[in-house]
Amino acid sequence: MDCFNHPATHAIGICRGCNKAVCHTCAVVFAKGMACSAECEQDVKELIEMNERGKRIYGIGRYQTNRLASGVLIWLLMTGAMVSVSGYFFWATGRVDYTTTTMAVLFLVITLITYRSSKRTGINC
Ligand SMILES: [Zn+2]
Ligand SMILES: [Zn+2]
Repeated sequence: MDCFNHPATHAIGICRGCNKAVCHTCAVVFAKGMACSAECEQDVKELIEMNERGKRIYGIGRYQTNRLASGVLIWLLMTGAMVSVSGYFFWATGRVDYTTTTMAVLFLVITLITYRSSKRTGINC
C-alpha cells in the first residue's frame, strides 16, 4: 500500500482518524495509533482518550474491579439511610412508620434493579 499523499512512497500505517494510508514523512505517531496530518491529530488524540475512558467505564483490562458501580452504591446508601430512619421511628415510638418503611423497601428494589442493570451492561462507574 502507498501513502495517500505520496503515491510513490510505501505506507507504514493507517491514520486512525480518516483511515488513509500514511508514509514515514506524513505520520504523526502516538503510543496507540497514528495520524496522517495536523487536521487528524486532534481527532486521533480524542479517539485514544475515548478508548481509555471506555475501558475505565466498562472495567476492561487494568481497570477491571469488583467494586460496586457508583450508581448502585448511592442507592445502597439511600436504602441504608431509609432503613435507619424507619428503624429509629420504630425504636422511638414502638410503631411502624409505613411511609419510611415503604420507601426503604422501594429503595432496596431500586438498588437491586440498578445492580442487575450494571452487571448486564458491564458498566463499572
Ligand atoms: Zn487522517
Ligand atoms: Zn506521505
